[in-house]
Amino acid sequence: MSETLQTSVLIVGGAGAGLASSIFLTELGIDTHLIERRETTSPAPKAHYLNLRSMEIFRSLGLADEIYERSTPAENMATVGWYTSLAGDGELDGKTIHIMDAFGGGALAEHYGESSPCRTANFAQLHVEPFLYAHAEKRISKREVASSLHFGHELVSFFENELGVLATIRNTANDETYTVQAKYMLACDGGRFVGPSLNIPMQGIERLIDMKTAYFRADLSSFIDDDSPMIRWFSNPESGGAWGSGVMVALGPKDFGRNSQEWLMHFAFNPDQIENVEHEELAEQIKSLLRVTAETKVEIIKTNEWQVKGVLADRFRQGSVFLLGDAAHCHPPTTGLGLNSAIQDAHNMAWKLAAVIKGEASDSLLDTYESERRQVTGKNVRWALYTFQNHLLIDGGIGLIPGAPVEMNTQAYRNLFEDSEIGDTLRHRAKLVIDTQTAEFQAINMEIGFKYQLGALHKDGHESTEREMFERRYYPCTDPGARFPHFWLNNNGKNLSSLDLITIDSFTLFVEKNVEQWSALVGRSPLANKCHVVAIGAGAAQMKPLNDDWNQFKYIGDNGAVLVRPDGHVMWRSKDASGMARFIDELSGFFKS
Ligand SMILES: Cc1cc2nc3c(=O)[nH]c(=O)nc-3n(C[C@H](O)[C@H](O)[C@H](O)COP(=O)(O)OP(=O)(O)OC[C@H]3O[C@@H](n4cnc5c(N)ncnc54)[C@H](O)[C@@H]3O)c2cc1C
Repeated sequence: MSETLQTSVLIVGGAGAGLASSIFLTELGIDTHLIERRETTSPAPKAHYLNLRSMEIFRSLGLADEIYERSTPAENMATVGWYTSLAGDGELDGKTIHIMDAFGGGALAEHYGESSPCRTANFAQLHVEPFLYAHAEKRISKREVASSLHFGHELVSFFENELGVLATIRNTANDETYTVQAKYMLACDGGRFVGPSLNIPMQGIERLIDMKTAYFRADLSSFIDDDSPMIRWFSNPESGGAWGSGVMVALGPKDFGRNSQEWLMHFAFNPDQIENVEHEELAEQIKSLLRVTAETKVEIIKTNEWQVKGVLADRFRQGSVFLLGDAAHCHPPTTGLGLNSAIQDAHNMAWKLAAVIKGEASDSLLDTYESERRQVTGKNVRWALYTFQNHLLIDGGIGLIPGAPVEMNTQAYRNLFEDSEIGDTLRHRAKLVIDTQTAEFQAINMEIGFKYQLGALHKDGHESTEREMFERRYYPCTDPGARFPHFWLNNNGKNLSSLDLITIDSFTLFVEKNVEQWSALVGRSPLANKCHVVAIGAGAAQMKPLNDDWNQFKYIGDNGAVLVRPDGHVMWRSKDASGMARFIDELSGFFKS
């Protein structure tokens, strides 16, 4: 066996959580050794929705524009729809049951637009992962950090020692093994190896339903007349409600809307049937569900089987090992919180790990990864389970009865589309019930409104509690633990978002007045050289908010301050100048002077 390699951070898994960790840690000048069992990035599309917070993180690293260029235009991901089929000339074929604004599109555009400088994106995981890989590689060479990415390399064993973690890695191409001594190990392995090896229990529902996803190529343009839906749910008397029929996602990748070349179809299957479906059979099933013509070519590119689960690890940290992404929490895909949470876990972890590795902060800062992210992702798991199960409610709203004979469900659809008062009433009921699914497709507060309660932050007794039950409204605030809100500023004639002032390698102290005093205080604090002071608002010479938003939610007075962490969350705030006397004391818990 060769000599033991040394690294600060061993990253196990080269998908969303792992590649994002590599990018963030490289940006912070930390050397990493990433290993990924597969030879290549994921060939399956899997996740595709990148939410506002993930896009804000990508924007802060200069990656957002490229994602927008390559992914679905806003107008082709503005809605989701429920249909009986795409085409067909049967009595109940080709009927639209309901269309809903989604992902910040349509009537949601105003609220999403005022809440974030970014818009959401639809970029399938099979494109996201190579994109992240390329940027991880580029950053490593640009920053000249001693980091590396090793695909076709698998973690086969590890144990903790006084230096951190000693891991044995197998090169899958030649079966040779080598060892790596790391200070820390990030388990970004989707829960496949590290968590189970450490006997960390996963609590929740392990196998709610078995799914099969077909990734296919087809020209469906002649059957579609609405370019706005990103997701289409099919519901018909034969196969029953949405999970029983099929859910189709338009993926582009060159043209979008009706001209999309590639699509996904998710099907629920009985566990004993799932593996025996041939590509041809699946293509026929898709054509029959869509009721497209016999000549329509449906070419299956790939299929994958997966289980819908909702589980949360009991611990996110064990010694020098941290669980991130699906290794720590695994969700149903509804609300699109899986990959997004993985990216946001990595973002929360990276600056803390960098501060501890550089000797700037004590180890206790790393404990806050679990106390912050477990609470938020625990809610994400429950939200995704709830919005997944809510689709069954939709079936009821349409009039379907589980297990009922086809004739009875056929009659339910006839009633629904009937041109009569009762038909109007049933359509009204369907709309009301389907609108409860806005909790999945319009939940902006799940994307940017989450707030850490316990961790690397100082609560100050004031907590804004406004909330819309389905999380469809985001209420900006500067409460410690919350993401610092976006608002537009005029900086010497140029507009920029407040979020553009926050960088992953620095704290930001937002003040209105007394810039010299606050700067001097920062200089004497544990954050000296790690924090920049930004003056905005009434007393500031240069940066002026473009409108009154900041004054509405800032909570602090002219002499106050808001300290924002490198991950964009508020750490500390003082309503007035009395905070100056407390600043150093209240920050000393985590940081070394
Ligand atoms: C059909 C579907 C649709 C989805 N839609 C969305 C969506 O729209 N939005 C969203 O946010 N999420 C969505 N998700 C969830 C999302 O795909 C996952 O949450 C995300 O992939 C998690 O990323 P990860 O990096 O944590 O883990 P994974 O993607 O599971 O990656 C783990 C990696 O670790 C590697 N690995 C495992 N063991 C080892 C080892 N011993 N050594 C080295 N490498 C190892 C694996 O090969 C794998 O590449 C969806 C999931 C599915 C199945």
